[in-house]
Amino acid sequence: MAYLNRTTKQWQEIDTKHHLHPFTDYKSLAEEGSIIVTKADGVHLTTSDDKQLLDAMSGLWCVNVGYGRKNLAEVAYKQMQELPYYNSFFKTATPPSIELARELAELSPNDLNHAFFSSSGSEANDTVVRMVRRYWDLKGKPNKKTFISREFAYHGSTMTGMSLGGMTAMHAQGDLMPGFEHVLPPYWYKYGNEMSHEDFGIFAANKIEEKINEIGADNVAAFIGEPIQGAGGVIIPPDSYWPRVQEICNQYDILLVVDEVICGFGRTGNWFGSDTYNIKPDIITMAKGITSGYIPLSGIMIGDSVSDTIINEGGEFYHGYTYSGHPVACAVSLENLKIIKEENLIEQSRQVSIYLEQQMREIEKHPLVGEVRMKSFIGAVELVKDKEKMEMFEDTGVVGTICRDYCIENGLVMRAVRDGMIFCPPLIFNNSHVDELCEKLKKSLDQTHNHISKS
Ligand SMILES: *Cc1c(COP(=O)(O)O)cnc(C)c1O
Repeated sequence: MAYLNRTTKQWQEIDTKHHLHPFTDYKSLAEEGSIIVTKADGVHLTTSDDKQLLDAMSGLWCVNVGYGRKNLAEVAYKQMQELPYYNSFFKTATPPSIELARELAELSPNDLNHAFFSSSGSEANDTVVRMVRRYWDLKGKPNKKTFISREFAYHGSTMTGMSLGGMTAMHAQGDLMPGFEHVLPPYWYKYGNEMSHEDFGIFAANKIEEKINEIGADNVAAFIGEPIQGAGGVIIPPDSYWPRVQEICNQYDILLVVDEVICGFGRTGNWFGSDTYNIKPDIITMAKGITSGYIPLSGIMIGDSVSDTIINEGGEFYHGYTYSGHPVACAVSLENLKIIKEENLIEQSRQVSIYLEQQMREIEKHPLVGEVRMKSFIGAVELVKDKEKMEMFEDTGVVGTICRDYCIENGLVMRAVRDGMIFCPPLIFNNSHVDELCEKLKKSLDQTHNHISKS
């Protein structure tokens, strides 16, 4: 491929001139230039300058089976030759989409037996809002429209995803749509430090009940939450949180939607975050790990009571995407799920996470670190101003960014959310990858500590 002959500098220039990146400050990117990633294998990335980086983020929380899986490429190649595309609109379907729906019905929790496919997490959550509102319409409760979510929630970046999400900086660009409310997240380190974890879990869940009472249960369609809030900074709820949320949703006749886009497909040590927290959702959203990022695919799984209503009482549901159930994406997903199963990646990663946690407890002793929180293969290292007083930095995000940049310099990809350093490694991480991660992180923390002590 001719374009592979360009120098890094040439690519950076063209990139700046013609390419607007997602979630990017364009002026500062133009000054610094992009890091151009050209290859990857296993858990390591290679840049156009031939630098090796350990990817402790699984790309963007998605490359669960690691890079360089030839099987996935071969399945895509074969499916493209056999049938590159056909849709599932009206009354057609393709074998991979049917097989994947069956497989997901098997793997997913509770009575989630029907799949509706799309290509991104944002689209899938758009389907959630349309389907849930349709459901309540058909139930004769057309006023049940409002979705309750949490601050720092991330549910995508379309108008619906942004409105479901709880990022105030996103709401300020493009206007939060009406019908979306946000309550306190179960973020103990930031909001709960007078209370025990368990008391705070109940306190945070009860904020949902307060919100329901404020707007009236007759107006509330659903509560939506990630089992562990990912992009919001890996907020791990106390164990008391989800059982209380479930109780509230049942009591007030509100659907419970669990966004499994990050937690699904092994991330938390089970197939779904709902399994880890024993949640019985009415609907789940899936994306990212469903194909390990090799090709775009997303979907929702719908529980029997909702699907019965939509199927039997609804007539035509006017919703769907050109690429819903795309045969190539579904074939890749099936192969990806097969790899996770055959290589026992969920059990294996859960084992490795015990070692990872031991090493992270050492990192937790660092003077910059307020707490390490984690669940199997997702976690955060919270950087703080004063470890003893549990005081966070006033100028949120500055120190996190400094540390993130040192990590990159040291050959490690972690992400900074505010001042939390996030890890979300591929499920194939082994003990020596854990050592590499923790060594590089420790060095970066020391450099960050020095850097801010001087300034
Ligand atoms: C990434 C993410 C989304 C959005 O997925 P896109 O494919 O980027 O649209 C939705 N929910 C959660 C929990 C996510 O992490």
